[in-house]
Amino acid sequence: MIDFRSDTVTKPSQEMKDFMFKAELGDDVFGDDPTVNELQRIGAEMFGHEAALYCSSGTQTNQIAINVWTNPGDEVICHSDAHIYRYEGGGIALNSGASVRLLQGNSGRINPNEIVDNINPDDQHFPPTTLVSIEDTANRGGGVYYDFEDIKRISKICKENGLPFHLDGARVFNALQENKIPLKEYGAQFDSISVCLSKGLGAPVGSLLLGSNEFIQKARRVRKAFGGAMRQAGIIAAGGIYALQNNVERLAEDHKRAKKIEQILSTKSWVSSVIPVQTNIVVAHLSDGLSENDVVNKIKECGILCVGFGKGRIRFTTHLDISDEDLSTLERNLPNSI
Ligand SMILES: *Cc1c(COP(=O)(O)O)cnc(C)c1O
Repeated sequence: MIDFRSDTVTKPSQEMKDFMFKAELGDDVFGDDPTVNELQRIGAEMFGHEAALYCSSGTQTNQIAINVWTNPGDEVICHSDAHIYRYEGGGIALNSGASVRLLQGNSGRINPNEIVDNINPDDQHFPPTTLVSIEDTANRGGGVYYDFEDIKRISKICKENGLPFHLDGARVFNALQENKIPLKEYGAQFDSISVCLSKGLGAPVGSLLLGSNEFIQKARRVRKAFGGAMRQAGIIAAGGIYALQNNVERLAEDHKRAKKIEQILSTKSWVSSVIPVQTNIVVAHLSDGLSENDVVNKIKECGILCVGFGKGRIRFTTHLDISDEDLSTLERNLPNSI
């Protein structure tokens, strides 16, 4: 089976495992794990933030950030396709008692002009708007990245309105690989950033939450209350260090391979269109009447795994464990008609 379901399916390489095996460990709740401390230092430094917190998942880093920035009854502005809203188990309501204002934007990205009209006035009828969150790259948008000018505009609007600005950067390195914005300049636009180490970067576990010293101090309390404070976490954090040091530049290969998949899919009678590929995600719209589940199962019979991605859509994702040879197999084995 060649696995295009997600960039989360990668397994740590032997080199990464050796590096993890040798990590120096301590009790991170006491702040004593030198490997966790090193990962947090590296991550914060890369994006020019003061501090970082290593957490078990990207859902946890996002949910901690939302909890720090909001009070129960507040409203969070995000895209209607945002992971924080669609794929985190209702965590915004469950963990933080907050509600959402969903914007339509384009391809999973918020349009800066939409934001001002959706900030609630200070009036007893309305929930207080207290956070803006965006996703870069935007998963349901087909892995597209933001124009940096738009990010700067949103950041400015947030500052003018006293709103913190959060980035769900599950695939932020895929975006940065393409837009070539210097990391610190990019990082400076946000008050908090979640970075997944277990997606394209290929670490087995974990995400980093970045922000100011004050923010991370609060985030640490919330992580504890969510049951997410870990002890000798350096054993897994080491995978994150290895990933940041070895697997960032190579994301360009994943993007090249995703473009190749776009080409292959475009020739198939059962595909009506493919969202133009920008990074490592390929979303195909199926021809009229085809069900995504049927198509996913047919493709599975050819030894290829992908996922249904909403009605009449399927998604392929490229990652560290996909080779050019796998692409040749895909090209050979994908059926011409279904
Ligand atoms: C994967 C993902 C996350 C975090 O997912 P976890 O599985 O909890 O690590 C957050 N945001 C987006 C856009 C994602 O794709």
